[in-house]
Amino acid sequence: MSYTIAIVGRPNVGKSTLFNRLAGKRLALVDDQPGLTRDRRETEAMVGIYDVTLVDTAGLEPGDEGLTPRMRRQTEAAIAHADLVVFLIDARAGLVPADEMFAAMVREAGKPVILAANKCEGRAAEAGLYEAYELGLGEPLAISAEHGLGIGDLTEAIEQSVKAASGDRESGIAETEEADAEGARPLRIAIVGRPNVGKSTLVNALLGEERMITGPEAGITRDSVASPLSYQGRPLLLFDTAGLRRKMRIEGRAEELSVGDALKAIRFAEVVVLLLDVEHPFEKQDLQIAELIAEEGRALVIAVNKWDLVRDREKRLGELREMCQRLLPQVKGVALVPVSALAGSGLDRLMQAVIEADRLWNVRLPTHGLNQWLQSAIEAHAPPAVSGRRIKLRYVTQANARPPTFVVFCSRPKALPDSYVRYLVNSLRETFDLPGTPIRLHLRKGDNPYV
Ligand code: GDP
Repeated sequence: MSYTIAIVGRPNVGKSTLFNRLAGKRLALVDDQPGLTRDRRETEAMVGIYDVTLVDTAGLEPGDEGLTPRMRRQTEAAIAHADLVVFLIDARAGLVPADEMFAAMVREAGKPVILAANKCEGRAAEAGLYEAYELGLGEPLAISAEHGLGIGDLTEAIEQSVKAASGDRESGIAETEEADAEGARPLRIAIVGRPNVGKSTLVNALLGEERMITGPEAGITRDSVASPLSYQGRPLLLFDTAGLRRKMRIEGRAEELSVGDALKAIRFAEVVVLLLDVEHPFEKQDLQIAELIAEEGRALVIAVNKWDLVRDREKRLGELREMCQRLLPQVKGVALVPVSALAGSGLDRLMQAVIEADRLWNVRLPTHGLNQWLQSAIEAHAPPAVSGRRIKLRYVTQANARPPTFVVFCSRPKALPDSYVRYLVNSLRETFDLPGTPIRLHLRKGDNPYV
């Protein structure tokens, strides 16, 4: 199956023009007048170095008024079949409610998405470009499909997506994306950790528990990379490192998982459970894996295994919490759950922590509240002056979730010290109660577009 890219957005934002630009041919009549376009169109095209299928969506038919159910259905179908969505807005017109509606469809689908703000050839597009951050689809690329501006950046972003997807396909991850019968996407979980901390035992305990509920005939496939299970009615997929290891044994490869395999598991997952051995917690390798998880921006839960071996449990838990705060400040407040994989205890609390970590990872904060926070954070602790001039922080918005990603517009982003960025992240974490989740905060040069 060829890699499919759907160009999505409300009518008249320039989807056809971009379609033609990427396809490298003039396939359709393009006109500024809405009402002239076409049904959904597809073409094979070469984008950068890759062969892809391009799909253009949501055309207007003569006589269409507003957004018709047909347009909605058509866009939904295109998103469902796509490997990547290129979401287009008209930066000159700014955001309109229809943009929000289409963006919500894209967010719900959970597909990889590139946000592009079109018609950026002039100054009139500036405010619209800022507004695009509000869609929660990541940072917008400024392009002009008609004038061919920013198409190189867009092509590069598409290439990266194709490359990431082909990596997933090789490792068999892509096939596990399918939704279950009710259409709910399973929450993807990986259990990672050093050798011998008890990963296989924990996976078996979680799947064993499941089997008691669902029965062996439920078709649990233990040799696939990911095993399905459910928790309180919610479908889950567990990246099965044990299965991976069995497969390697058959293939005659080394016993232990390499860093590459851990990374594969982390990239597969939405929530990563880092398993520690209570007798040797927070070793160098544990911290390295934690760092990797935070860098990849995944939701994290720390499980401390072999709890059955601990005598003074309260004291030990206090010590572990203190170590965690001190050694992993980048995920301050992360859940730390004692378990015994062998005895099968603590599993319910572990799963609750996983669900909660996923909730925080998906959080979306309103722009108004964020800007109130920014003002009070600045008042409590002003940004420093660099070479005699105070750096001004003007505006903040959440550009993305999974992980929560914020963009702060300021006068001199390069001059703001890292320590101040850390202060902002910690303050944000506390104010909006986001313990443990990786938070991204990007600085961009610019003014508040709304004053
Ligand atoms: P992996 O390399 O991380 O997959 O670790 P394994 O699951 O193979 O477990 C390594 C060893 O730790 C085995 O001897 C397990 O029996 C033991 N182990 C796993 N979980 C527990 C536990 O909760 N308590 C105790 N006491 N031992 C455990």
